[in-house]
Amino acid sequence: MPLTGGAWHAELAWLGPGRGVARRVLVEADGDRIAAVTADADPPPGAARLPGLTVPGLANGHSHAFHRALRGRTHRGRGDFWSWRERMYELAARLDPDRYLALAAATYAEMALAGVTAVGEFHYLHHDPAGRPYADPNRMGHALVEAAARAGVRLTLIDTCYLRAGLGGEPLAGPQVRFGDGDAAAWAERAGALRDTPTVRVAAGIHSVRAVDQAGMAVVAGWARDRDAPLHLHLSEQRAENQACLAATGRTPAALADAAGVLGHRTTAVHATHLTADDIARLGATGTTACLCPTTERDLADGIGPARALADAGSPLCLGSDSHAVVDLFEEARAVELDERLATGRRGHHRAEDLLAAATAAGMRALGWHAGRLEPGHLADLVTVTLDSPRLAGAAPADLVDHLVFAATASDVTHVTVGGNPVVEDGHHLLVGDVGAALARALAAVDA
Ligand SMILES: [Zn+2]
Repeated sequence: MPLTGGAWHAELAWLGPGRGVARRVLVEADGDRIAAVTADADPPPGAARLPGLTVPGLANGHSHAFHRALRGRTHRGRGDFWSWRERMYELAARLDPDRYLALAAATYAEMALAGVTAVGEFHYLHHDPAGRPYADPNRMGHALVEAAARAGVRLTLIDTCYLRAGLGGEPLAGPQVRFGDGDAAAWAERAGALRDTPTVRVAAGIHSVRAVDQAGMAVVAGWARDRDAPLHLHLSEQRAENQACLAATGRTPAALADAAGVLGHRTTAVHATHLTADDIARLGATGTTACLCPTTERDLADGIGPARALADAGSPLCLGSDSHAVVDLFEEARAVELDERLATGRRGHHRAEDLLAAATAAGMRALGWHAGRLEPGHLADLVTVTLDSPRLAGAAPADLVDHLVFAATASDVTHVTVGGNPVVEDGHHLLVGDVGAALARALAAVDA
């Protein structure tokens, strides 16, 4: 991706929690970083005009790109997470590197249109359907790198260790065999061949306490610590996982992960839905981020996580679209508050600007990017939302952030800049063109 630098003149821009929205904001970049942010500025010649409200690029903290092919196909009938997982496994078995690339590129392009400038891909589809490594053992990971480049978004490639089918040490079987590297040392060797670039950050993943034993978790955590890389894991998405973990180890998943050295300020616990008070205290005390994925958690009948309690305990909150039942970070943000209202019978758990910070700065930090604020030194990732849409028309200046978080949709995003490069202009993806057609082609290829 070329590094251009440049200047943008925003009609209105959100400057971060406690700093509010300023008018006539000039953002200047040097290379891919913001060099200066000046409010009440005149537009210099050549500055790109951004009408509407500009915010930092949105971070999608948790993605399984291929789940986009499940949208609309898994919502009917009864069942739960575990029956949904069978459908997901059938899909995973049909993916080869070319289909994976096309589907991920189109899905990431959908994200770009929604204002996502960085995506954390929780990647465990490593090997061929029989579990044999491709000639390039990172062929599938490299397909994701190429997909992100085509879509113009940053990628945090969370290469995920997945070694067993359950807490009893059951071996991977059927569609799961392509997830596994055999042991944690082999995972570390393969993942160690992946390289950071200006737009790709390599990170470590532990699929779950089900899929990686305690010794394996310690190896993955050490790998991440040695590289100062982010470390993500699914944690307590399901009550059944907690029950199985307690029965097998006498500990909750959070306590087990803590004992393996997994928790900490560079770690993100994805979902964190069914936690004890002790789990919440552990996550908070270690500074572990919680990545909430409310649209997926509601779609899969997972439950509502204790977001307020986690934040109070010290855990930063970030957001992910996970299964991509919808791709809309504004919907994820408001769902944190609105779901907690339903669970408690009370309003006002989270301020809109804190939810927007979860969608921006906290998510970027969880993905290993110095981004998410409009201030010098941060990556020049900008998202502009029109205030002319029926959803946002008439927004009062003093209420702009509340109006954005509680009423905007992905469709209101008009302009997206990633590292100083324009990716979306007037709602048009400059690299992919017709994103709907790209998705349709990619989805048809998966079915073929
Ligand atoms: Zn996930």
